[in-house]
Amino acid sequence: MKTPYHRIKVMLATPLPFGDGVLDYLSDSPVVTGQIVLVPLGRRDVAGLVLGLVEEENRTVDVKKLKHVKFISGLPALDSKMIKFIHWVAAWTLSPIGGVLKMVLPLVDALHDPAEVLGFVTAKNIDGAVRMTATRKKILDAIADMTPNIEANMGGRTAKALAIHAGVNVSTIKAMAKAGLLETAAIEHEAMMPPRALPQDSGYSFNAEQMAAATTLQNAVSEGGFNSFVLDGVTGSGKTEVYFDAITSALKKHQQAVILLPEIALSAAIEQRFAQRFGAPPVVWHSGLTLGQRVAAFRIIAAGGARVVIGARSALFLPYPDLGLIVIDEEHEQSYKQDDHVPYHARDMAVVRAKINAIPIVLASATPSLETEANIDAGRYQRLRLTARVGAAELPAIELIDLRRTPPDRQHWIAPPLVAAIKAELAAKNQVLLFLNRRGYAPLTLCRTCGGRITCPHCSAWLVTHKYDAAMHCHHCGHRTKFPDHCPSCEAESSLVPCGPGVERLADEARRIFPDARQAVLSSDLMTTPKSLAAFTDDVTEGRVDIIIGTQMVAKGHHFPRLKLVGVVDADLGLAGGDLRAAENTWQMMVQVAGRAGRIGDKGRAMLQTVAPDTPVFKALLSGDRASFIEAEKNARKLAEMPPYGRLVSIIISGRDEGKCAESAKMLGRNKPQFDGVSILGPAPAPIPYLRGRYRFRFLIKTNRSVDVQQITRDWLKSFNFHSSIRCQVDVDPYYFM
Ligand code: ADP
Ligand code: ZN
Repeated sequence: MKTPYHRIKVMLATPLPFGDGVLDYLSDSPVVTGQIVLVPLGRRDVAGLVLGLVEEENRTVDVKKLKHVKFISGLPALDSKMIKFIHWVAAWTLSPIGGVLKMVLPLVDALHDPAEVLGFVTAKNIDGAVRMTATRKKILDAIADMTPNIEANMGGRTAKALAIHAGVNVSTIKAMAKAGLLETAAIEHEAMMPPRALPQDSGYSFNAEQMAAATTLQNAVSEGGFNSFVLDGVTGSGKTEVYFDAITSALKKHQQAVILLPEIALSAAIEQRFAQRFGAPPVVWHSGLTLGQRVAAFRIIAAGGARVVIGARSALFLPYPDLGLIVIDEEHEQSYKQDDHVPYHARDMAVVRAKINAIPIVLASATPSLETEANIDAGRYQRLRLTARVGAAELPAIELIDLRRTPPDRQHWIAPPLVAAIKAELAAKNQVLLFLNRRGYAPLTLCRTCGGRITCPHCSAWLVTHKYDAAMHCHHCGHRTKFPDHCPSCEAESSLVPCGPGVERLADEARRIFPDARQAVLSSDLMTTPKSLAAFTDDVTEGRVDIIIGTQMVAKGHHFPRLKLVGVVDADLGLAGGDLRAAENTWQMMVQVAGRAGRIGDKGRAMLQTVAPDTPVFKALLSGDRASFIEAEKNARKLAEMPPYGRLVSIIISGRDEGKCAESAKMLGRNKPQFDGVSILGPAPAPIPYLRGRYRFRFLIKTNRSVDVQQITRDWLKSFNFHSSIRCQVDVDPYYFM
C-alpha cells in the first residue's frame, strides 16, 4: 500500500522572484497551519511556514513534480496573529512576503531539534520516607529557580548546571536521583533554560509623575488590549525605571515583553540594570551576537522560554508565542528605519503588531518624533509626561557659541569659549564630552597641486581618511584603500591635505590643548563589540576618563554621573543636507547629547558651536521652548503636505549601465499614474547618483494621507517589465534620502 501524503501550502522564508511566495509541498505526516518546516528549494533548504492543505480544486501542479518537506520543526507553530502581521508588513512595505517571513525565521540552523541531553527535574511522586536535608532542599530550590515553566515541569537541567547553581557537588545530585527525589528529563538545549526574570517592584520611590505613568502602564498591561502610550520624559527623568514597571506586569501574567533599542551601544547598560532589578539577564538579540548565540536566543524565544528580550529593531519580528508588551526606547531614532531588503520602520510596525496582538505598546523618548506628536494630536496615542529629572538634578543649561564671532584658529575646531569652559571643568575634576557626528579623521582630502578630491571608485562620495588603520574609507559602500602617498589623479607627491575634522582629528586637537587629560574616543569604528563598549562605559563611569570624544554613539542613553560639560563641535552638521527632517533631527540630537550632562548633582552645561545661531532650531534650544519649535515644524510640514501630514514613497531605479538605467527610468516615467492628491517627481538622478557601482534614478511619490499610495505604486510598477540588470527599490515612508 502507498503511504498517504498530505499536500500542503508552504510560505517560504526567502523572497521569490515569482508568484506569491507560496509553493506546494508534500508531507508524510499531518501538519497544522503555522507549523515551521524545512523544505528544499532548488539546491538550498529554506525555512517555511505551513499555511494549510491544498484544496482539491487548487491542485494545479502535477503531484510528481512536488517535493517533500525535509522535516517539521519541533518549535511551536506560529499563531494566526503572527501570520496576519507578516501579511500586513509585506503589503505595507510593498515587499515580497518571503522577505518578511525571513525576518521572522532568520536562521535555518535554529529549526533543527538539537541533540537530546538528559537533565534532572523534581520527581513527581516523592516517597515521604526519603530524608530531606538542607543540601537536598537547596537542589530542589535550584531546579525551581532554573526551570522556565515549573508548573509544566518542562525540561530539566544538567547535573553540572544544577550543582553550580546550588553550590553542591554533582555526586550529591546523582545520589538524590537514586533516592527517588529527582527524575531524568530530556532537555532540548542547555540554553533553553535561562534563569527566570521574576516580577520585581522598583527599588526607588517614584515621584508623582513617575507613579502616575507607571500605574497607567501597569493597568494597561494587566488588562491587556491595544493601547499606545508615549512616555515623554526629559533625559534622566526615570523613563526606563517606569517602563520596567510595565514589564513587571507582563511577567506577572507570564507573558513575554520585548524592548527595542536603537543601538547595540546601549544594550550593555540596560541589560545590567535589567538583571539588577529582575534577578536574571534578559535574552538579547542584535547583530553583535555570534551565529551560535543567535540560534540559542532564537530557540529560547520561539519556545517561550525567554521572558524579556532586549534587542535591535529586528527583534520585533521574532515569533514570541505570547507577547504581552512592546517597548520602543528612544522612539524618535532614525535607526529604527531599515532601508534595505524589507524597508520598514520598526516603531510603526511595532504599533501594528501591538494592535494585531491586542497588547499595549510604550514609545519612550525625551524628544518624540513629529510622527508620534501627530498621532498624539489625532488621539491615537496617549502621552504620559515626566517633566523633571529624578532627584535634585536639573536639566543642563544650553549655550550657543557663535563661530563667526569667536572662531577657532585655522585648522582647529574647538573655539576659545569652549576651550576655556573645558579648562575650568577639568580643573574642577569634572568630565567633559566633545561631540562630533563624524567618524574618522577627515571627511575630505584635497590635492594641493591639482585641486582634485579623492572620491570612491564605486560611489559619488568622498573618501574619508581614518587614522586608526591608516586608510581611506567610503562610508557608503565600505570600500577601503591604503592612504596613498601621491595624488591618484596628478601623481604629485606629499600633496594631499586633509580638510575638516572627524572625531579622530578632534581627539588630536584636544590632546594638544589639554595634554594632561585622559581621553576616550567612542565611534563605531573603534568600539565594535558589546564588550569593548562595556569597558568604555566602565572607564567613564568610574572616572578613568576626563574627556570623552564621540559620534552619535555617545549621544544617546548613557548615564555618566561625572559628566558636567558637553561641547558640540559642529551643531550645523545635520542641517546641511536640507533633508525633510533636518531641523527635527538636529533638535533631537542636541537635546539628547546635552542630556548627558549633569545627570547627578550640580547642573550641567551644553555649548553648541554654530555659524548660524539665529536658525529657529538653535533659538528653540537656547530658550528651551520646545512647544513652539514643534508647533512651527508641524505647520511647515502641514503647509508642504509632507510627512506626517502627507505621504512619500521613493522609487530608485538602478543599474550598472547608465544609459540602460536612464532609459528604464524614462519609460517608467511615461506611465506615471495621474490621480487627485498625488504628485510624482522624477525621474531625476538620485541624491547619491552613483552607489556601489550602480547608477541611480529616483521617483518621489507624494500624496495626501487619504490616498492608498501602496495601491497606486503597486499598479504602476506592475505595468512595467524591467530588464534583469535593472533593480527597482521601493521605499514606503522613506527616511534616508540618498
Ligand atoms: P531616562 O530613561 O529617563 O533617561 P533613567 O530611567 O535612566 O532615566 O533614570 C536615570 C537615573 O535615575 C537612573 O540611574 C535610575 O536608576 C535613577 N532613577 C530612576 N527613578 C528614580 C527615582 N524615583 N529615584 C531615584 N533615582 C531614580
Ligand atoms: Zn563607495
